[in-house]
Amino acid sequence: MTALLIHNAMVLTMDPALGDLAQADVLIEGSRIAQVGRALDAPPDARRIDARGMLLIPGLIDTHTHMWQGPLKGLGGGLWGTPDYQKHVFPMREKFSAPDMQDACFAAGTEMLDAGITTVLDFCHNTMTPGHAEQSIAGHRRTGQRVLFAYGMLGEFKSLAADHPWRIAQVRELAAELGRDSAGRVRLGLAVGSLEYSGLELVRTEIELGRALGLPMSFHQNPPAQIRQLGEAGLLGADLLPVHANLAADDELEMLAACGGGISFTVEGEFGGGRAMNIIGRAHRAGVTPSLGVDIPSRVALDLFAQMRLTYHVMRAEEAMAERLTGRWPLARRPGTPHVQPRHMLEYATVNAARAVGRGDELGRIAPGCLADLVMLSTGPYSMSLGDPAAHVVLQSTPADVDTVIVDGQLRKQAGQLVGLERADAAEAIRRVRERVLAGEAAIAETAP
Ligand SMILES: [Zn+2]
Repeated sequence: MTALLIHNAMVLTMDPALGDLAQADVLIEGSRIAQVGRALDAPPDARRIDARGMLLIPGLIDTHTHMWQGPLKGLGGGLWGTPDYQKHVFPMREKFSAPDMQDACFAAGTEMLDAGITTVLDFCHNTMTPGHAEQSIAGHRRTGQRVLFAYGMLGEFKSLAADHPWRIAQVRELAAELGRDSAGRVRLGLAVGSLEYSGLELVRTEIELGRALGLPMSFHQNPPAQIRQLGEAGLLGADLLPVHANLAADDELEMLAACGGGISFTVEGEFGGGRAMNIIGRAHRAGVTPSLGVDIPSRVALDLFAQMRLTYHVMRAEEAMAERLTGRWPLARRPGTPHVQPRHMLEYATVNAARAVGRGDELGRIAPGCLADLVMLSTGPYSMSLGDPAAHVVLQSTPADVDTVIVDGQLRKQAGQLVGLERADAAEAIRRVRERVLAGEAAIAETAP
């Protein structure tokens, strides 16, 4: 078994028992973390990485992204609200062939790994044919990223019920196929249909299927009261992750908290779309575990550092506004306020997100026994932040600082260069999709505002 020793890092374990460790080592054996501590002994043939001056964090985990939209970067840039998105971006899925899905997933996965996102929930609501799902999985397998491939049950609106049988059959087949490889990085999940389009009976069938097969599940929660509707139908659970849920009422947050559930927030898209953003702080305080996602690469960069930073400021702004509206102005500290801290954001993108994708026992922390998914961040040349090193990650770091990425104990990026992947191959895959789907740059220009 090959061993890898990361030596002399500032380690943010995100593990409550271990905390932060300055000038510490992490020993990786095979795909797992063997030891974390200072001055560790390593086997003589162990590979060593000098991490002096670096921050070592768990690999970032994105809990909601539609990776098929990666090649459509910019298409959603100037959209105004959901109707624009439904008109200009979402229907593009009908133009994607199965090979386009492989190219799109490969390109987005490569870019995400480059940016330190070692795990993603790919909410694939573009399984228009069985081949689309097969080719998406093939693309994911080529990158080495850890992927929860959430199979989309929301197909063509006009034939949702008619198409249900073949989708369910394929979910069963893929669950058996992917389930055979317990160490595989690509696992199956279920992107449950939206209640407002699919209706409760189809959604119930999907959730019961997911539970029977042990699949983590997620769904878009856009119109209000759907969490309550699912709760009253007995369908809520920690294995069913709502996304957005900006209008969730207090009783719905209590229902989620009671079953140990979370919510995936895709802050850049939600905030820019004018949605109610106080939901994140309300969910956090209610005991619901927030996690973060990029959601729509057609508009939002494949960058979780940006999501962490914006989320922190959005939450602080909400807290400050609540103070101002109750006359407590200028701002002054008082017990419990401000509540949100930069470190919470790193929790959202690591430990919380690991729970959200059903891997809380072995992902999202740097601790013995956990899978070795790690990101090493440069803090140079302009020095590390004073104070909490987690604040440096959240408020100072960008994908350009991602020096080293390890997934499953294997180097995927080292000294700023991808290992076993070529950026040019991702760029070429994007070009192919655009050529086929958009018929070149002319189509991009036509749909631009
Ligand atoms: Zn989404």
